[in-house]
Amino acid sequence: MSTFCHACGMPLTKKEDFAGANEQMDFCLHCADGDGNVHSCEAIFEGGVQFFIGAMGADRALAERVTRKNMKGLPHWLGNESDCLQGEEATDDEFAKVLGKL
Ligand SMILES: [Zn+2]
Repeated sequence: MSTFCHACGMPLTKKEDFAGANEQMDFCLHCADGDGNVHSCEAIFEGGVQFFIGAMGADRALAERVTRKNMKGLPHWLGNESDCLQGEEATDDEFAKVLGKL
Protein backbone atom coordinates (compact mmCIF):
# COMPACT_ATOMS: atom_id res chain seq x y z
CA MET A 1 0.00 0.00 0.00
CA SER A 2 1.40 3.39 -0.98
CA THR A 3 1.70 6.18 1.53
CA PHE A 4 1.84 8.91 -1.09
CA CYS A 5 0.45 9.49 -4.56
CA HIS A 6 2.94 8.35 -7.22
CA ALA A 7 1.85 11.11 -9.58
CA CYS A 8 1.58 14.22 -7.37
CA GLY A 9 3.13 13.31 -4.03
CA MET A 10 0.04 13.95 -1.94
CA PRO A 11 0.08 11.93 1.31
CA LEU A 12 -2.37 9.03 1.26
CA THR A 13 -3.46 8.76 4.86
CA LYS A 14 -7.03 7.54 4.68
CA LYS A 15 -9.17 5.42 2.39
CA GLU A 16 -10.89 8.46 0.87
CA ASP A 17 -7.53 9.87 -0.28
CA PHE A 18 -7.08 7.02 -2.76
CA ALA A 19 -8.45 7.00 -6.29
CA GLY A 20 -11.80 5.23 -6.11
CA ALA A 21 -11.31 4.96 -2.31
CA ASN A 22 -9.28 1.86 -3.20
CA GLU A 23 -6.24 1.38 -0.99
CA GLN A 24 -4.59 -0.82 -3.62
CA MET A 25 -4.11 2.25 -5.80
CA ASP A 26 -0.82 4.11 -6.02
CA PHE A 27 -2.65 7.34 -6.85
CA CYS A 28 -4.79 9.91 -5.09
CA LEU A 29 -8.36 10.78 -5.99
CA HIS A 30 -7.15 13.92 -7.80
CA CYS A 31 -4.77 12.09 -10.14
CA ALA A 32 -6.68 8.97 -11.21
CA ASP A 33 -10.22 7.76 -11.66
CA GLY A 34 -11.72 4.76 -9.88
CA ASP A 35 -10.33 2.39 -12.54
CA GLY A 36 -6.78 3.60 -11.99
CA ASN A 37 -6.54 5.64 -15.18
CA VAL A 38 -4.09 8.41 -14.38
CA HIS A 39 -4.88 11.88 -15.70
CA SER A 40 -2.61 13.59 -18.19
CA CYS A 41 0.68 15.08 -17.12
CA GLU A 42 -0.64 18.50 -18.15
CA ALA A 43 -3.73 18.19 -15.92
CA ILE A 44 -1.78 17.01 -12.89
CA PHE A 45 0.89 19.63 -13.46
CA GLU A 46 -1.74 22.38 -13.54
CA GLY A 47 -3.32 21.02 -10.36
CA GLY A 48 0.06 21.17 -8.65
CA VAL A 49 0.66 24.74 -9.79
CA GLN A 50 -2.73 25.82 -8.42
CA PHE A 51 -2.01 24.00 -5.17
CA PHE A 52 1.31 25.78 -4.59
CA ILE A 53 -0.15 29.17 -5.52
CA GLY A 54 -3.03 28.65 -3.10
CA ALA A 55 -1.06 27.04 -0.29
CA MET A 56 1.77 29.52 -0.11
CA GLY A 57 0.96 32.45 -2.33
CA ALA A 58 3.74 31.57 -4.76
CA ASP A 59 3.79 33.44 -8.02
CA ARG A 60 3.00 31.32 -11.04
CA ALA A 61 6.57 31.07 -12.31
CA LEU A 62 7.84 29.75 -8.98
CA ALA A 63 4.86 27.43 -8.57
CA GLU A 64 5.59 25.92 -12.00
CA ARG A 65 9.25 25.34 -11.18
CA VAL A 66 8.40 23.76 -7.83
CA THR A 67 5.68 21.55 -9.32
CA ARG A 68 8.06 20.40 -12.06
CA LYS A 69 10.74 19.45 -9.56
CA ASN A 70 8.20 17.71 -7.32
CA MET A 71 6.64 15.64 -10.10
CA LYS A 72 9.94 14.67 -11.72
CA GLY A 73 11.00 12.94 -8.51
CA LEU A 74 7.87 10.78 -8.30
CA PRO A 75 7.68 7.12 -9.44
CA HIS A 76 4.97 7.61 -12.05
CA TRP A 77 7.02 10.14 -14.05
CA LEU A 78 10.47 8.59 -13.70
CA GLY A 79 11.53 7.45 -17.15
CA ASN A 80 8.28 8.86 -18.46
CA GLU A 81 9.33 11.61 -20.86
CA SER A 82 6.45 14.02 -20.54
CA ASP A 83 6.72 17.29 -22.41
CA CYS A 84 5.04 19.25 -19.67
CA LEU A 85 7.87 18.38 -17.27
CA GLN A 86 10.50 19.85 -19.57
CA GLY A 87 11.68 23.24 -18.45
CA GLU A 88 13.13 25.13 -15.56
CA GLU A 89 13.05 23.47 -12.15
CA ALA A 90 13.18 24.94 -8.69
CA THR A 91 16.57 24.77 -6.98
CA ASP A 92 16.94 22.54 -3.92
CA ASP A 93 16.93 25.69 -1.78
CA GLU A 94 13.70 27.01 -3.29
CA PHE A 95 12.11 23.60 -3.01
CA ALA A 96 13.02 23.20 0.67
CA LYS A 97 11.77 26.69 1.41
CA VAL A 98 8.43 25.98 -0.23
CA LEU A 99 7.94 22.65 1.56
CA GLY A 100 8.81 24.35 4.83
CA LYS A 101 5.88 26.72 4.35
CA LEU A 102 3.28 24.01 3.83
ZN1 LIG B 1 -2.10 12.59 -6.84
